[in-house]
Amino acid sequence: MAKLYFNYSSMNAGKSTVLLQASYNYVERGMRTLLLTAAVDDRAGVGRISSRIGLVAEADIFRAGDNLLDHIRKAHEAAPIDAVFVDEAQFLTEDQVWQLAHASDRLGMPVMCFGLRTDFQGKLFPGSKALLALADSLKEIKTICWCGRKATMVARLDGSGRIVEEGEQVVIGGEESYVSLCRRHWVDRDLGPRCD
Ligand SMILES: [Zn+2]
Repeated sequence: MAKLYFNYSSMNAGKSTVLLQASYNYVERGMRTLLLTAAVDDRAGVGRISSRIGLVAEADIFRAGDNLLDHIRKAHEAAPIDAVFVDEAQFLTEDQVWQLAHASDRLGMPVMCFGLRTDFQGKLFPGSKALLALADSLKEIKTICWCGRKATMVARLDGSGRIVEEGEQVVIGGEESYVSLCRRHWVDRDLGPRCD
């Protein structure tokens, strides 16, 4: 269906795995997909989407000023696209979310966005805020806290594994890591029994 989808999750819920699997389902049937990811994500080098279980695919990158409707239209004119997949969708601007909505409505293709709902301080990312407002379909990709409850929150850890309370929404190239927690343990800053 030519809809705008937002599949949101906490960290480490396997959203890139779900994205790559869904894209593969199209490719396997002889259809063409366009993959996009944020330039700020350099986990696998710019222009690649990779999952923790080893799946990797080439992707076009987007930056804050890019017009994604133009980008998708150009690619679609070169060779028809059956579906668009956007990883790290939390980094989209509100304008870009509208551009993706227009791509879906005017070019008649499904646009499936995958991203984090909130940052380490429990606040919506700009892209996620716009997608929660505009998407036709919202779906949560679930993961669990160490206690077994659904993990809806993200904590940022510094290089020595301590929870960080302050800082920029996005840190590039630092030593921090992220862990998903249920709301109760996020509020209590309780990382649970750790093996390290
Ligand atoms: Zn918990």
